[in-house]
Amino acid sequence: MTSERYEVIVIGSGAGGGVVAGELAERGRSVLLLEAGGHYTAADFTRWESRAGHDFWWPLRFAFPAGDPGLGPVTLIGGRCVGGSTVINTKVALRASPRELDKWHAATGVGLAREDLDPYYDIVERYLGVRERSDDWDLKPCVRTAKRGFEALGAHLEPTRAYTDHNCMQCGSCLQGCPTNAGKSTMNTYIHRNWLGEHLTLRPNSLVRRVLIEDGEATGVEYVGESGDNQTVHADAVVVAGGSLSTPQILLRSGLSNPNIGRHLGLHPAQFVFGLFDEPQDAHMVAPISSHCFDFAADEDGGFAVEAVTIQDPIGFTVSLCDENGPMWGQPLVDAAKRYRRWVGLLNMSNDDNHASVSLDDSGQEVFLADFQPNEIDRINAAREFSTKVLKAAGATQILWSGLATTHMQGSCRMGADPATSVVDPHCQSHEVKRLYVGDSSLHPRTLSVNPSLTIMALATRLADHLDRGAGGQLEAPRREQLVA
Ligand SMILES: Cc1cc2nc3c(=O)[nH]c(=O)nc-3n(C[C@H](O)[C@H](O)[C@H](O)COP(=O)(O)OP(=O)(O)OC[C@H]3O[C@@H](n4cnc5c(N)ncnc54)[C@H](O)[C@@H]3O)c2cc1C
Ligand code: SF4
Repeated sequence: MTSERYEVIVIGSGAGGGVVAGELAERGRSVLLLEAGGHYTAADFTRWESRAGHDFWWPLRFAFPAGDPGLGPVTLIGGRCVGGSTVINTKVALRASPRELDKWHAATGVGLAREDLDPYYDIVERYLGVRERSDDWDLKPCVRTAKRGFEALGAHLEPTRAYTDHNCMQCGSCLQGCPTNAGKSTMNTYIHRNWLGEHLTLRPNSLVRRVLIEDGEATGVEYVGESGDNQTVHADAVVVAGGSLSTPQILLRSGLSNPNIGRHLGLHPAQFVFGLFDEPQDAHMVAPISSHCFDFAADEDGGFAVEAVTIQDPIGFTVSLCDENGPMWGQPLVDAAKRYRRWVGLLNMSNDDNHASVSLDDSGQEVFLADFQPNEIDRINAAREFSTKVLKAAGATQILWSGLATTHMQGSCRMGADPATSVVDPHCQSHEVKRLYVGDSSLHPRTLSVNPSLTIMALATRLADHLDRGAGGQLEAPRREQLVA
């Protein structure tokens, strides 16, 4: 047992936790960052698909649809390593639109406008070097093919913005970690810049079981350390940032009872649609998401967005393939896999209405449920039909698709004004326990229709700012210049 003390303990080092920890350490706060996964760097990222799945990914988990069993389970994908999912993500960096922040307000009364978030978005974009990813726009055959299909339907395929620098060699292996460090993660930015300094203590392979609570205040955490022993450590404030699937479990294991914990999980369900072309397309050798179409992103316009051009590496591609008979098998699967270089993939992301959930069963095991309603299923189907039309218009001779998956889980401990509808207050502090904060994707009151990481990082920067200011009396007076005046 140890009796260490820090100003802030941050649980989880992904988009939320990595930013909170880095920002606070940079301002001279003593921070302990506890991460369940290992610490890997660019030298470890070798495009070895099964090794990445084993070493840096959280083992695949599934949300089972409560209603329509025909949809199949939704595969839940996330990172488990220092940097969390930012290590294995595709680096798309988009701001939430005012329309989406209005949805947040309607859900929980949280009153955040773009003017409130923009200063924090600016800071994150500068830190990560966000830029328009248009450098492979017209050069690669697969991008040109996809663009042809979108244009034939009068839809707009635009280059995306991303946190990749100009060293990106468009190798397409972002999901196995970036071997050049061109792709930014919280690991190779916020964490590494502070790691060798005196203020940030990083402990990988440290699985937090629960937050310690005394007299209604968080006082520390209990975790299983690298050696396998139980450890306790204390702090003035605890930030839980284990991601939308883990954060609610940590709060429940800590004895919190707010009924919203684990509810309102948004999945932002994603589905690949693949088109087969006569010539090699090499859609695995591009920056995986270089462009997107947001023409139908508003619910009233269809409620989905399409990302292009992307295809997983061969294992992921092959195990996900479906046709009208369901998951593929036997000779048709072999035939599809043999033509790997000739497939072009579009990735649909549909708006959902946050009906999924995370809970613990009687034996303490995690349970994930999806509960898509008819209007959500309509959006998923509309997205698939649209992408099919695009690929056929571009000349595809066969269409296949994947099952549903998500990499954008959000909203399981949402922020809001009222404990009846939310878990934490607008400054991310638990309604139930003082000095206990949530700092990750769980905060979003509604699923965003854009990729969520930039917003998670902006909210995390705002939380670090709030803690450092000592606004709630959690920490002593600020020691450095505040970030946002
Ligand atoms: C393949 C993929 C592609 C994506 N592409 C994009 C994209 O292009 N653009 C975009 O905006 N978003 C993208 N995302 C989504 C984005 O990366 C996530 O939304 C974001 O990283 C979530 O941030 P988070 O802090 O909530 O969780 P994470 O980043 O997942 O971090 C949570 C961390 O907490 C750790 N943890 C969990 N439980 C515990 C515990 N009990 N104790 C200690 N540590 C714990 C986990 O190991 C993990 O490292 C992608 C995600 C994936 C998986
Ligand atoms: S495509 Fe670019 S960002 Fe992605 S892994 Fe390769 S070099 Fe890194």
